[in-house]
Amino acid sequence: MIASLTVALQLTLLNAQISTKTTFQSSNTTVAAKKLNPYAENAFRSIVEGNARFSEGLKNNPHQTVETRLDVAKGQAPHTIVVTCADSRLCPEILFDQGLGDLFVIRVAGNVVDQFTIASIEYAAEHLHSPLVIILGHERCGAVKAAVETYEAHLKTPGHQTSAHAESHGQSNTKDEHANINALINEIMPSVMEAARKTTPLLPTAIDINVENSINNTMGHSPLLRRLAEEDKFDVIGGVYDLDTGRVTFSAPKDIRTFVRMIGN
Ligand SMILES: [Zn+2]
Repeated sequence: MIASLTVALQLTLLNAQISTKTTFQSSNTTVAAKKLNPYAENAFRSIVEGNARFSEGLKNNPHQTVETRLDVAKGQAPHTIVVTCADSRLCPEILFDQGLGDLFVIRVAGNVVDQFTIASIEYAAEHLHSPLVIILGHERCGAVKAAVETYEAHLKTPGHQTSAHAESHGQSNTKDEHANINALINEIMPSVMEAARKTTPLLPTAIDINVENSINNTMGHSPLLRRLAEEDKFDVIGGVYDLDTGRVTFSAPKDIRTFVRMIGN
């Protein structure tokens, strides 16, 4: 009963959120929210309900039988694409209480996106007809924390002049054994620098902005996803997972057509 009430409350909040002109609070590129396309709305409902069950300790563990395995072996139609961090505590199938064939998951530390991430999203959207992608960050993300620590170390460096230097801080010794990790930190650094201009706590704000920037990078670099969005066949939502409560706080879906104009390509 508690779980069903919780789900009902979440869905009420969800519907209220979707139906109003909610905006991202963490971004300096505030964009009006939109209503989800009908397929994405159904998918998102399943995600919200599953996360409520997980956080309450009442998982159904759906679609994990031999019958499901044999069924999806014939073909897949995942209802949601999830791009999230590689953190071991962030398995999307568990925290959204989903099963085989339900989610198309792409994971990389810091939930940053590159060309191959975007290609994976495009494949699921175009060929598997997934109507929704969720870009999911999380509380106390180690990758974002590393970028914050790099930024703070730069501030303590005598003679630092501009914030732009922090962005290249991790590149100062790219031939060393940390070159790859430094590349990841550099990818996250713009989010940290944007967060540092706000009065809110640095790490949580950087985590929020990093999700936003991954959304911007995804849609900004994908004419295919923008076309699908313009045809109302594809939507994107951001979220941040609370490691302690198990809850995901979602941002309102963006009006991607407005977003595309802001990106300018
Ligand atoms: Zn992380």
